[in-house]
Amino acid sequence: MKKQYLLLLISAVLLISFNACKDETTGYKTLIITGQNNHNWKASSPVLKQILDETGMFSSEILITPDKGGDMKTFNPDFSKYKLVVIDYNGDSWSDKTNASFMEYVSNGGGVVIYHAADNSFPKWKEYNEMTGLGGWGDRNQKDGPYVYYKNNVMVIDTTSGIGGTHGKRREYIVTARIVDHPITKGLPVRWLHGNDELYSLLRGPAKNMQILATAFADSAAGGGTMRDEPVLMTINYGKGRIFHTAMGHADEGGGPAMQCVGFITTLQRGAEWAVTGNVTQAVPYDFPSAAGVVLRTDFKQMTLEEAIANMGTYDIAKSTKNLTYLQNQIRKLAGDEQGLLNLEKMMNKALVSRESTVEAKKLLLRELSWMGSEYSVPAIKNLLSNADLKDEAEFALVRLLAK
Ligand code: ZN
Repeated sequence: MKKQYLLLLISAVLLISFNACKDETTGYKTLIITGQNNHNWKASSPVLKQILDETGMFSSEILITPDKGGDMKTFNPDFSKYKLVVIDYNGDSWSDKTNASFMEYVSNGGGVVIYHAADNSFPKWKEYNEMTGLGGWGDRNQKDGPYVYYKNNVMVIDTTSGIGGTHGKRREYIVTARIVDHPITKGLPVRWLHGNDELYSLLRGPAKNMQILATAFADSAAGGGTMRDEPVLMTINYGKGRIFHTAMGHADEGGGPAMQCVGFITTLQRGAEWAVTGNVTQAVPYDFPSAAGVVLRTDFKQMTLEEAIANMGTYDIAKSTKNLTYLQNQIRKLAGDEQGLLNLEKMMNKALVSRESTVEAKKLLLRELSWMGSEYSVPAIKNLLSNADLKDEAEFALVRLLAK
């Protein structure tokens, strides 16, 4: 009896301490602050919410400040109720009371995400600039701190006089990790191609307790580039608080390619988790881009295996290699897992015999099945021998499968 009570007590304590940091059903309580911005905050804030909530790890709400010129004294959220505060705001100063309560929240260990133009915000608020590490515009110059960037793979802290903040023409650009063993970047490709976006450049600020996780090269050929590797992902420690700063993600209506980019989405999700816990438990998604091509999620959702294989059936090689890449990654991941591979093989067989599938898709499926498939696929492949378009590939696959 006593033992049971003890066990009950232990599990109750464990439950309470677990719930103190994360509610299992709703995730980390997250506050997205917006309402004033020189950007389309009505487009970006719901997308930020969707990206975070999609992980099942966060439960976000959007808080809209008074309009520009409005009475900011009425804006006084209780930050202590949240594990994460996301700043999608670039506008009027908050009240001294709100500033103080935000500083207290971060000092005590609250997590923060600084998103894109939020690093333009509050040029005169010293502590806020310590939280962002680097900022731009708002008459920032040498008085606000050095430029920080990479040149020839070396970090440069540059105290030269000059403006803070610029960007060249919007374009796709390669993001290069500078710290590869940080929880946020660990397991991600060192170089990946980001969706069409602004590349913030000439950022300057106190840069205290800041780590640059990734940079992107601001090529002058791409219009207004500084020819420096400009920081795009940063972490900052402030008191006990952790801040993840992404300079990327310029929003168009519906988010647009900068926010739909799987690289942006993933680093935001991982950065947000790190800001809350100091760790990242999320797996690197299958569709994370390489340096070879941009990968967008137009609905911000990660595709399921079934969806990818169904999509593969209507595969158009000229349009995208995403589904094939996904399939190949899945096969690689399942190496040694016989049951998992058989399940995958069954799905591939379905797509192989489906009338919806294109000849192009069936050829690719046959190629994959020829080396990862089993006896299970033999009947379906034999049926394709009578198909003039697929005869050669079917024969090839059969020879390889039967030789196993
Ligand atoms: Zn922008």
